[in-house]
Amino acid sequence: MAPSQDILSKSSRILIVGAGTVGLSAAFHLTERGYTNVKVIDRDTVPSAYSAGNDLNKIVRADYQDPFYAKLALKAISAWETPFWSSFFRRTGYLVSASGSAPEKASVLSSKILSCINNQPDFPTDSIHLTPESQSIRIHVPQLTGEIKGWSGYFNKHAGYAHASAALKMVYEELARRCVEFIFGEDGEATEIEAISTKSSFVRGTPNIRTRSGAIHTADIVILALGAYTAQLLPAAGGQLTAKAWSVAHIQLTPEEANQLAGMPVVNCQDLGFFFEPDPDTGLLKLAAHGGGYTNLGTSVFYKYEVSLPPPEASQNRGIPVHDESSIRQLLAETLPQFQHRPLVDQFICWCADTEDSEYVIDFVPEWDNLLLAGGDSGHAFKMFPVFGEWVVDTLEQGCQDLERWRWKNPERRGSEISWRIGDIRDIKDVKRSDKVDDFNRAAGSLKEASWV
Ligand SMILES: Cc1cc2nc3c(=O)[nH]c(=O)nc-3n(C[C@H](O)[C@H](O)[C@H](O)COP(=O)(O)OP(=O)(O)OC[C@H]3O[C@@H](n4cnc5c(N)ncnc54)[C@H](O)[C@@H]3O)c2cc1C
Repeated sequence: MAPSQDILSKSSRILIVGAGTVGLSAAFHLTERGYTNVKVIDRDTVPSAYSAGNDLNKIVRADYQDPFYAKLALKAISAWETPFWSSFFRRTGYLVSASGSAPEKASVLSSKILSCINNQPDFPTDSIHLTPESQSIRIHVPQLTGEIKGWSGYFNKHAGYAHASAALKMVYEELARRCVEFIFGEDGEATEIEAISTKSSFVRGTPNIRTRSGAIHTADIVILALGAYTAQLLPAAGGQLTAKAWSVAHIQLTPEEANQLAGMPVVNCQDLGFFFEPDPDTGLLKLAAHGGGYTNLGTSVFYKYEVSLPPPEASQNRGIPVHDESSIRQLLAETLPQFQHRPLVDQFICWCADTEDSEYVIDFVPEWDNLLLAGGDSGHAFKMFPVFGEWVVDTLEQGCQDLERWRWKNPERRGSEISWRIGDIRDIKDVKRSDKVDDFNRAAGSLKEASWV
């Protein structure tokens, strides 16, 4: 239920649970609009080991099949280019391609995206160039030394990437300057939403948040921004938010190798994975694997069916499925074969909160007073970091979510295929994961010591 007018004022006590991408963005926009009493709690510091945004970089692009999100992403790109955000954004361009052995779904997806972009009046003209074969790809991504045989797609120059964890940290520091209160660790790890009053059998009142240490946080408004972990605290969300993970790994380049790839566009092969230009400070090149994603299903006391949640400890996310390692190596073999056998360091799986239709959820939680859920990121919210919080504050101030697509969802809508992902969904417990992580990391450490310090 929405806050009553007498509760919401610029001095209302607003508690944000979760200092990840959405929580920090919400705090940022609350302070922009003059709210003075904002507290943010998290189980970890910023960037949190439990945040999907805690990553070297994330793609920032407006290539969507749905004009609604294309428009929002264009707005986000404009925000990334303003002075406050711009040092964390690189407009390198973005190659989207299917490999020679991609299923038909890849080209269908590209056609839908291109048709959406072409009908989008805000999309800068002359940004898109078709790349039907390797020769045209090399014009836009000359750094690729591999054969890229059979690759076909397009290049978008109005896109790039954000330095993700660095941007999270920058916003956290800015919020601390703006006197937002942060509480991390056991005092910040929410373990229970507690009812404080019973007005009727259905409405339980503005909740308190109890934490691992036993500390209790009280507020006038509570915003839950827990990403993939939402249903751990709010089981009622487990029917509509499915925790899903994908694999991320880095390779360590020498300064000379990194220099050669500086300025390289983001390369996204829809059926294998994607990679970015090397990080200028560390020489790490990030790679991620595509696929339908991994769940971690377990029984739920709330639903008759199983609900997916990330494993409780971040250390359980180390090591990637061996199948993804093969995809990443195949991607390197086709694009940058000189690195095909380089150790994959910092291997981890990264969790987000998927909804059936990839729509975000920004709405008041039924049966509670003044409890707002901001999540359902569906793996595409980091690009919105500079603007996501605006939509959270709009919802708070309007007292309701007037967009049907972002409302609290019907938990019965489960099980359909996600239109923009290629590959099967598997449970993480059923796949073999790399057990060589420590060896790989040690090998990379010595390469790094030899060249980057
Ligand atoms: C592999 C992968 C690649 C991605 N690539 C892109 C991309 O290229 N471009 C893009 O736009 N998006 C991308 N995303 C999506 C993007 O990272 C997410 O949409 C975004 O980070 C979600 O933000 P969030 O705030 O909802 O969750 P998070 O950022 O995960 O934040 C959740 C926060 O809740 C905290 N928390 C958890 N449990 C508790 C608790 N009990 N008490 C207190 N705090 C708690 C965590 O510590 C964390 O800080 C990707 C996601 C994945 C998984």
